[in-house]
Amino acid sequence: MRTCWIGFAALVTVGAASGAEITATIVSTGPGNPFAAKIIAQSLLKAAGIKLDWREPACLRIQLSELTPEDLRPGALGVSYPYSGCSKPITIYMDRVRARARTSAHEPVLLGYVIAHEVTHVIQSVDRHSATGIMKANWSIRDYDSIYKKRLQFEPEDLLLIRHGLASRSNQEALAIRSDREHVPPKRIRSGYSEQTLWSSQPNF
Ligand SMILES: [Zn+2]
Repeated sequence: MRTCWIGFAALVTVGAASGAEITATIVSTGPGNPFAAKIIAQSLLKAAGIKLDWREPACLRIQLSELTPEDLRPGALGVSYPYSGCSKPITIYMDRVRARARTSAHEPVLLGYVIAHEVTHVIQSVDRHSATGIMKANWSIRDYDSIYKKRLQFEPEDLLLIRHGLASRSNQEALAIRSDREHVPPKRIRSGYSEQTLWSSQPNF
């Protein structure tokens, strides 16, 4: 697991982070409607103090790709760019999410969690994973069980990193975050570059 810590512009309280709003849109050429997954991702991020607003025009684009080549980040369910703000889209390998879901009814739940995971990388703007919870790099069979019951949560450290990411002025600009405190129009993004992938584990089901 790679871990990369970067400096934050400021520390904030829980109250200051509340009300942050990020606009996002899903681009999909595959079958199905991701409506239920959008609601689940919204709910997960709301619990972390983020209002994920699905509308156009959007800052953050999420592409649901199909026909993923086997040799493209083998096993990964998605990829995001923690230091790129809205300048690079998140890609979710929808065919792999579909294959990983235990049943078709579980598919939107799993997609919602993958969206929340990748969006959180961008909001946190750090190159890291957690040992447990939504931001774990490799979900276990038990984690998948929790996902399908909608019980898997962010661990406290991730909530703190989300607050730090929301408080960072440069990240606010990169993500065009609107909050109760101030509105900062997008001007520039972080110069750093990194890529984060969510790798699926290999449960025996
Ligand atoms: Zn990840």
